[in-house]
Amino acid sequence: MDLPPRADARTDAAVAALGAALAGRVPAHVPGTPEHTALSATTNLTVPQRPALVAAPRSPQEVADVVRLAGEHGVPVAVQGTGHGASAPLDGALLVSTVELDHLAVLPARGTAHVGAGLRWSRVVEAAAPYGLMPVCGSAPSVGAVGYLTGGGHGPLARTLGVSSDRVRAFDVVTGDGVLRRATPTDDPDLFWGLRGGRGALGVVVAVDLALVDQPTLYGGSLWSADVEGTVQAWARWAPTVPPQASTSLGVMRLPALPGVPEPLAGRTTVTVRFGWTGDADEGAAVLAPLRRVAAPLVDTVGVIPCTAIGSIHADPDGALPVHDSHLLLEDLGPEAVERLLELVGPASSCVQNVVEVRHLGGAASRQPAVPDAMPSRAATWSVFTVGVATPATAAAVVDDAGRIAAGLAPWTRPGGLPNFTAGHGTAWAERVYPAVTRARLAEVSRRYDPDGVLLGGRAFRTR
Ligand SMILES: Cc1cc2nc3c(=O)[nH]c(=O)nc-3n(C[C@H](O)[C@H](O)[C@H](O)COP(=O)(O)OP(=O)(O)OC[C@H]3O[C@@H](n4cnc5c(N)ncnc54)[C@H](O)[C@@H]3O)c2cc1C
Repeated sequence: MDLPPRADARTDAAVAALGAALAGRVPAHVPGTPEHTALSATTNLTVPQRPALVAAPRSPQEVADVVRLAGEHGVPVAVQGTGHGASAPLDGALLVSTVELDHLAVLPARGTAHVGAGLRWSRVVEAAAPYGLMPVCGSAPSVGAVGYLTGGGHGPLARTLGVSSDRVRAFDVVTGDGVLRRATPTDDPDLFWGLRGGRGALGVVVAVDLALVDQPTLYGGSLWSADVEGTVQAWARWAPTVPPQASTSLGVMRLPALPGVPEPLAGRTTVTVRFGWTGDADEGAAVLAPLRRVAAPLVDTVGVIPCTAIGSIHADPDGALPVHDSHLLLEDLGPEAVERLLELVGPASSCVQNVVEVRHLGGAASRQPAVPDAMPSRAATWSVFTVGVATPATAAAVVDDAGRIAAGLAPWTRPGGLPNFTAGHGTAWAERVYPAVTRARLAEVSRRYDPDGVLLGGRAFRTR
């Protein structure tokens, strides 16, 4: 442990003194207030957060004031945009909520956007669309753009357009020493390296400059079938053969019979194939045709869509739920692995996960960016992600079941994980996700820009 005691002085007195120092300067909220409850809420109800204070700075300078004052009072700092990726309880910490940092400017002549840290992808997509431009965003419009980018980001077009953080041109960021900086390939290049893939380890990002792509429309959507076995087998053979304009993923779904779930999909095991195609629509339809022939789809939403409808490809559920998720990477999805996957999660299995998603990675997402970054596991070609609703009554079974699936797929699993998909926090999370060389460099950069270890995100890399 190399952190000075000052950064661990999580006492009530320190928090009270910090609250007094912030009063009248930056909006800050104590537990029990509606603002504290709202700003520290998470979308996964199994991960409650209990920060000692929540600050909602209204400008980059206010973020710098908050981080500096927290450091002076020995109170550690975490950061949150939307709560979609919350993973730690944050006891005794100050949580910086970025919701007020909602500045957005699209610069069509440059093909870029300046995106405040409080913005969700939906706002960026809507603002860029009138210019025929689109950010390389994730599957869910409600996810925070900046939080997503700090974890790299594999969206519905990742095989074609690459890891989303490859498009970041600059970060405006407050480092743990309380200084507001602009990190680019040439200014503070180590920060620019580590903020792309290193999550919140090196700073509180207040905004990014992001390159957009010319993509007014897409050919995309999803097919849903009741023929789980036939579709999974056909998809696993087909996905590696598709051209680079195609990105695809698959989900074995057990959707409950609830309002909003289409009748043919509710209360049964189905499979969905997601397809995103950036080229000519007729060519995309020809590429997808073999999958459409496998089984008469129950639902087929694939067609030409405006880029503003990109969220319809995955149609992720929105809103807060208690869920347990798990993630692993596979080396290979050949016939034996597919057979095992179907034994583990197919209709005849004991699987209790509501979603078992397999994303085909590779393509442009495997290429190293022109300016190196901290993003791990670029060579991975398959990602498996499970989600199960974990109420007090179901949680133990859902967790056990995720372990059963991971054990069953172990012969095909490769080490590591994608930062955005790997649950957990702290050193165990960092050791699971990043190679030792990346962890060592993140720790070194963290010590330089955050000598007192104020940022909780950096501690995951510095505690050994
Ligand atoms: C429905 C759904 C769909 C998803 N789809 C995809 C997908 O297609 N591809 C993919 O890659 N991921 C996906 N994810 C995962 C998602 O990208 C991560 O959970 C991401 O961290 C969420 O960011 P957020 O800001 O919304 O969440 P938050 O909970 O607000 O933040 C999560 C973490 O991001 C970091 N962070 C957030 N804001 C900042 C900041 N201003 N400065 C520094 N660090 C910050 C911190 O480490 C924070 O703990 C999905 C998640 C959900 C819930």
